[in-house]
Amino acid sequence: MISCLQEDKVKLQEELNTAESKQQCLGSTPPSLGTTDLEKHLAILVLENDRLKQELNCSQLRFQQLRASVPTCTDCEHSKENSRLREQTSVLQLELEEKTRLLSELEQHLKDVHQDRTEREERLNKRIRDCHLALAKHPTPGMKFISKKMEVESLRMKQDLEEAQSRNHYLQEQIGIQRQLLTEQEQQLQGSWHTSAQLQAQIMMYEAELEQARGEMIAALQAMEDEKNQTIEEVFQHARSEMKSVHDNLNGVRMNLLSIQPALKTLTSDYNCLKNHVRDFPCLLQDAVSQTKKDIYQAVEEAKGINQDLMRKYKREMQLRKKCHNELVRLRGNIRVFCRVRPITRDDGAGPDNRNVVSFDQDDDAVLCISHRGKTSLFEMDKVFQPCALQVDIFREVQALITSCIDGYNVCIFAYGQTGSGKTYTMEGLPDDPGINQRALQHLFGEVAERSTDWDLSITVSMAEIYNETLRNLLAKDPSEKLEIKLSPDGSGQLYVPGLIQIRVQSVDDINKVFELGRVNRATDFTNVNEHSSRSHALLIVSVTGINLTSGVRTVGKLNLVDLAGSERVGKSGAEGPRLREAQNINKSLLALGDVICALRSKQPYIPFRNSKLTYLLQDSLSGDSKTLMMVQVSPMGKNVNETICSLKFAQRVRSVELGAAGRRAESQLCSSRQECELESPHSATQQGRHNYPGGNNVGKSTAGKRRLVTSSEVTN
Ligand code: ADP
Ligand code: MG
Repeated sequence: MISCLQEDKVKLQEELNTAESKQQCLGSTPPSLGTTDLEKHLAILVLENDRLKQELNCSQLRFQQLRASVPTCTDCEHSKENSRLREQTSVLQLELEEKTRLLSELEQHLKDVHQDRTEREERLNKRIRDCHLALAKHPTPGMKFISKKMEVESLRMKQDLEEAQSRNHYLQEQIGIQRQLLTEQEQQLQGSWHTSAQLQAQIMMYEAELEQARGEMIAALQAMEDEKNQTIEEVFQHARSEMKSVHDNLNGVRMNLLSIQPALKTLTSDYNCLKNHVRDFPCLLQDAVSQTKKDIYQAVEEAKGINQDLMRKYKREMQLRKKCHNELVRLRGNIRVFCRVRPITRDDGAGPDNRNVVSFDQDDDAVLCISHRGKTSLFEMDKVFQPCALQVDIFREVQALITSCIDGYNVCIFAYGQTGSGKTYTMEGLPDDPGINQRALQHLFGEVAERSTDWDLSITVSMAEIYNETLRNLLAKDPSEKLEIKLSPDGSGQLYVPGLIQIRVQSVDDINKVFELGRVNRATDFTNVNEHSSRSHALLIVSVTGINLTSGVRTVGKLNLVDLAGSERVGKSGAEGPRLREAQNINKSLLALGDVICALRSKQPYIPFRNSKLTYLLQDSLSGDSKTLMMVQVSPMGKNVNETICSLKFAQRVRSVELGAAGRRAESQLCSSRQECELESPHSATQQGRHNYPGGNNVGKSTAGKRRLVTSSEVTN
């Protein structure tokens, strides 16, 4: 029995040892104290794990150091990769921590099992010892009881053993599970190892990149440093030069300041002085203004007085001037007679009839001689223009007369002479060499402009024609319309022509337009224009009205420029019908002109203005203190000598009239001169009946003795 128990005990001991060794394998006893392979392996893994942890920590530390040393860049690929790896690492770390926790729990469990086993072992040992003791005390009688007890004990122990075995089995299962878990953890560890290696490789790669970047950065930094140094050097140099110039400027400014200081002092004192002046200025100004006002009032009063005195003097002067002018006119005669001899042109031909019969006194430009029938007749005019005289020469002589019309005088300029003697040439002229008409207007424009500061002057022109004692308006739309001369309804006794168009002219262009219109209208209704124009009187009437801007004096002057009809005696050619009527009308009007002038100069109470349309129309411009110029045109050719002598006689008659007392006789003598010519005409009888002029000698004779003549002989009619 005991041996059986002994065997059981040994078996139990063996089982216990086995269980113990197995438990030791799972326990926390160090491997050096008889550990199993599994325990060794676990220990190695734990060590490896610790090492890896340390390495990871080192790597992290190093990584952080590197990161700290490298400037952070958040957007680059490396930093992104880095953050990803860091996340992975943290995940792995978490896993590792979890596993470590599981391992420690397992270890704790093993410890508990070991402790439980130790306790049970001790309990068993104690019972065995108790059994041994009991055996020793009661060797035989009690053996049965002991055996029974042992059996009972053994059954219990068997149960305990079974329990221990089942527990052992359970523990072994647990160990298997733990081993599996360990294997998995090993795999995971290997995975994390691998990841760690990869991480390390990446870290190394990053390190290399970092190194490279650092190198590049250092190089760049170096370059920047160099550049910075260079820039600093340049800036320094520049600053130094600027500093120098500023310094120089400063010196200059300092010098200026030094020189300005006295000026500033002066200015300050001036300023103070001015300030005082400004302060006193309003009072001074008021005083000055009131004083000036007083002075001005006084001056105005004085000026008013002076002005009134001046106005009085001016008016007196004006009256005096007019008186003087009238006296001068009276002395010189208000009727002046010029003679113009036209040149013999190529158109005239070179026959014996066209030889020159006119000669001149070289020392006297007022004399011309006509050679006729072997005798020389001398005629004296106010001025004689030789064939070589130019238009401008003629105008120079009449200019003063034209100017006087601005002063308010009425002026008449007649061109008298036979057809072809140059009347139209003298009055109208050629387009490129104009005559008196255009030049007179141009001259008036000049005068108007010159006097514009004192005078407001305006010029108007009218153009009319007298044909067969009919007055036609040459500027009208219908030139055939006949005009009447009427007495002004205002009772002034002035004449006016209703419907006679007046056009204001201000330039040569205006004049030319007006002349052209007149020329066109004059030609209307007549087939032979030249013939018609030589049988009608053409009148250009220029009115100059002015207001003196100072005195307010108004002036009205009229300039009548008349191209008379041909004075030739048509009776000689035996004209009849209309031609005869024309001739009669021309004679009538030319005789009437002579009569009027005679009557005016002899101061007769009755002046026969109404004897012709021409004199009636020009009544205002012939009477009073008006001025008349008779431009007698003559042809120098032999074939025209009779007409030339007639024209010159007429001229002398007119001129003698204005010679006053001495001229009275001559007047009666000369009044017959045209009639004498007319007597040669078969139609002159009609005129003779109305104008009974007493006969007499040629006035030319009376002065001939005083002249040195080119031709020696003297002729009489
Ligand atoms: P009137 O008008 O007296 O009939 P014109 O003026 O028509 O005469 O002149 C007749 C001709 O003589 C024209 O061909 C004209 O050009 C010319 N004539 C007249 N006077 C001169 C002169 N002083 N110089 C040159 N030619 C003249
Ligand atoms: Mg003519």
